[in-house]
Parts: sequence; structure tokens; C-alpha cells
Amino acid sequence: MLIVKKFGGTSVANKERIFHVADRCIAEYQKGNDVVVVLSAMGKYTDELIKMAKDINEKPPKRELDMLLTIGEQMSVALMAMAMNQRRVPAVSLNAFQVTMHTTSDHGNARLKRIDTERIRRELENRRIVIVTGFQGVNKYDDYTTLGRGGSDTTAVALAAALHADACEIYTDVDGVYTADPRKVPGARKLKEITYDEMLDLATLGAGVLHNRSVEMAKKYGVPLVVRSSLNDSEGTVVKEVTTVERMLISGVALDTDAVRIAVIGIKDMPGMAFKVFDTLAKKKINVDVILQSIGRAGTKDISFTVNKDDLEDAVATLEENQARLGYKELHSERNIAKLSIVGAGMMSNPGVAAKMFESLYNEGVNINMISTSEIRVTVLINEKDGIRAMNAVHDAFGLTD
Ligand code: ASP
Ligand code: MG
Repeated sequence: MLIVKKFGGTSVANKERIFHVADRCIAEYQKGNDVVVVLSAMGKYTDELIKMAKDINEKPPKRELDMLLTIGEQMSVALMAMAMNQRRVPAVSLNAFQVTMHTTSDHGNARLKRIDTERIRRELENRRIVIVTGFQGVNKYDDYTTLGRGGSDTTAVALAAALHADACEIYTDVDGVYTADPRKVPGARKLKEITYDEMLDLATLGAGVLHNRSVEMAKKYGVPLVVRSSLNDSEGTVVKEVTTVERMLISGVALDTDAVRIAVIGIKDMPGMAFKVFDTLAKKKINVDVILQSIGRAGTKDISFTVNKDDLEDAVATLEENQARLGYKELHSERNIAKLSIVGAGMMSNPGVAAKMFESLYNEGVNINMISTSEIRVTVLINEKDGIRAMNAVHDAFGLTD
């Protein structure tokens, strides 16, 4: 069997953990399997590097930031290979250039396009454990790129797809996917299985377990994913197309406190205005989420939407630059909001799910600012200070609490 195993930052944070991971991988290798290991930077090293960069230059050139950030993963793969060598097991570390992981050009948010597999195959044939840097890639100018924070998951899934791996295991500091973040909802339960679509929504909406693009890719190529703990042997959660056990109305509740709301007030009420606003933002590669349009006064309308807090400054600047062309009166932004979502494939065939969520928020006295829905998701915008309380109330209302 060919197995891709990915370990996150906490799993390789120090010497003991590195040896622990090395031994786990070696055990798999000694069963006769081919083992490809993908690693993140140690502990919070990526954050440290970003801090160092900003200390020198508040807005570092994105190319140079990527140059810097790739160090983190290169460090952990080299140390891991050394640990395996110390155990007398043949291993080799490879960075994105050596594999060649080809990506698009956008620094800081590149997408994987193609992975050359020859080098990895050759190393596996020579019975070496292959350890690959997560998170990084190479663009057509032969410059380093990175895939966005948390991107190592995506590297692992992409490698599993390219190598037609038999399994892709994502090891982290939690032992699977929960019905809600157990640090915020004490009664949250671990799920045995979850569908790609549910996982994609949860990952996008702040569950924090998997990089959302890794789930997108797993779905596209049918890569069976398992999320497990690097610290114990518990079973973990399987992410796949169709789940068979635990048919619940909803699978999870997620809270995203990184969202901010922007309101564009007093836009002319005529065709094409929404297009102009969102096209302006799209050109700056700013992702817009929950959108609400309402009727304003005297032939005008207001459009509110959420963006990630990291994009707030850019979004406001772009909209202000284009004020004359967009013809709005005022711009407001609100930071103290949170996005609370419920996700579940069971919603499709069960009416009343949204109502049940709203009822539980009403019972808690939580006010809803905006609502957005899809076939398998309901999202509401609430005050940030109500977030945890609202999340627990909804989790309880759907009987998810242990
Ligand atoms: N080291 C990178 C980060 O901290 C990538 C990853 O951990 O997946 O975002
Ligand atoms: Mg991660």
C-alpha cells in the first residue's frame, strides 16, 4: 500500500514529537508499505516568521514573504529525515522544487496545478520514506509560492491524488472532526464519518480542522481522507462521498469570528450596481461571503456583506477608490460580528431545520443580523459576544450534545 501521512505543526513541535512521528511512520514502513510524509512547520514557526517579516516591513513584498515562509517546512522535513536516519531507517526530505509541485503564481494564495511524481516514485522504489514540505509550491517563474495558511493539508491530498495513494491520513492535535469545536462546546461529539460536502462547509465556516481546499481536492479526485490524532491511536473521522452511519439532521455547528461586515449605503437602485461592487472586490481577489441587499431611501439601496478580517482594509480601500464610479453615499464596517453555521446533508430531506435553529437563538435572546442558506447549510450573522453561547444553544437544540 502507498500511504500519505500529514502531520501538523503541533505534531512536530519539538524533538520528542518529531521522534514520535518518525516512529509512527517507520512502523507503517516496516509493514512493507510505501510511506510519503507531508509536514507543516514546527509549532507556531510560521507565525514567528510572519512576525519577523512585519517587524522589518509592515507590508512585505509577497514574493519575499513566501521566500521566508518556505523555510518553516524545509526545516521540519530535514529534521524528520535526520530522526529517521538516527533510527537507521532510510529517508529523504524533498522541498517543492525537488518534487516539483507546480502552482499558480499568486504568492500567499497559490493553487496547485500539477505535481511531478517521478522523483518521489524513484525514492519509494529504493525503499526510502519520502518526506515532503507541505504548504509550498513553485510557480512558472521558478519562484516559491505558498498555498495559504493551513495549506499543508492540501499538499497532502494533492500528493495522494497524484500518486494514487491507497490512503491519506491527516494527523492533528485533535482526534477527528467534532460536531463543534470541543474547546467551545464541551459536549461536542466526535463523528465517525462525514461527507466531503459537509466537511467542505465546516472547514470553510471556521471548524479549523482541515484546509478547505484540501477537502475540495479530495472530493474532486475521490481521495479517501482520515483525520486522526498524532498523539493517540483513536480511530479518527473518515471523510468520504456518502456516509452510512449516524444519519443525523445536522453534522456540525461552526463559529467563525474572523468575519467582518461591510455595508455599502445609498447605492443607486438600478441594474448592474451589485455587479459593479462585487466585481471591484473580485478583481482584488477578495472573497465575499454572506450578502444582504435591502431597500434604502429615495431610489437607493444598501448592500451588506462579510469578508475575512484580513481583507477588511483592502476591501474598504478599493471601495473608497471607486466611490465615484459606484456612486454610493457611505461605507460602514463592523468588526464585532460572528458567523454561526449549521451544516448537514440531512437538511435536504428535512424541512424545518432553519426554523429550529432560529427558535433556539430566539430562546437564548440572540439577535440575528443576516441569514444565508444553501442545500446543506444555514448561516446567521450575530454579535461576536453572543457567539459561544449561541453555538452551545444550537448544538443542544439539535441533540448533538453528549
Ligand atoms: N505552516 C503553514 C501554516 O502555519 C502551513 C500549515 O501548517 O499547514 O499555515
Ligand atoms: Mg492545519
